[in-house]
Amino acid sequence: MKFHVMTLFPDMVLDGLNTSIIGRAQNEKIIEVEAIDIRDYTRDKHRHVDDYPYGGGAGMVMQAAPICDCYDDICRKLGKKPRVIYMTPQGKLFNQEIAKELAKEDDLVLLCGHYEGVDERALELLGTESLSIGDYVLTGGELPAMVVIDAVSRMVHGVLTNDESADFESFEDNLLEYPQYTRPEVYKDLRVPEVLMSGHHANIMKWRREKSLERTYERRPDLLADANLDKKDIKYLSTIKSLEEQNG
Ligand code: SAM
Repeated sequence: MKFHVMTLFPDMVLDGLNTSIIGRAQNEKIIEVEAIDIRDYTRDKHRHVDDYPYGGGAGMVMQAAPICDCYDDICRKLGKKPRVIYMTPQGKLFNQEIAKELAKEDDLVLLCGHYEGVDERALELLGTESLSIGDYVLTGGELPAMVVIDAVSRMVHGVLTNDESADFESFEDNLLEYPQYTRPEVYKDLRVPEVLMSGHHANIMKWRREKSLERTYERRPDLLADANLDKKDIKYLSTIKSLEEQNG
């Protein structure tokens, strides 16, 4: 899979993605990240890419022409029009399900805004979809694009090794992951739960499922509405709820 990031700060994107698992995936050519400098597509001799907003107001707006020319060049090189996503706090909230869906693309273009954002006509002409990484405003779309690239890449076959498997992670089944422990067995008087050392696979699985349910109920109860729960899960959740009610 190849990510084409349209940005004013290509080094920021490349430097942020060249280590650890995502760096390894690039070295192994499982994914590719290309950061394209929108400024290279300006026709202005001073290489300006922004201008004052019509109607007044604070800040600058990224102009449509360099963005459209940059996207056209990507399309020309690829011989097709890849899906293009504008990173914006006004977009659909990015989540694991969207990451999995995007991982099916061969090519994905991410547009990073800066200043007050992007001339609306660029978004119309490119037919962008839009994604937000959360309800807060950042200075630019580069960090959001990196977040999307990291999460999507993990869903691309071959990026994670068996040891890094995503099978039982948070948001699988719409539940948060159970607590994890590693050596030593006792740290500052805190002992690893006995069941995890028992070697009894079925009991370990049961404990983990219950902890997942507990954690999701406590921290993200909104997820439970779409969770894939069986009868045992529902019974366990009602036990937690009645215990909670008893304890006030
Ligand atoms: N004026 C814009 C608004 O109110 O919607 C915010 C512009 S923001 C300062 C500059 C750029 O950062 C945006 O164009 C977008 O690319 C990026 N950005 C900021 N927050 C973001 C978020 N939560 N998710 C995705 N992109 C974001």
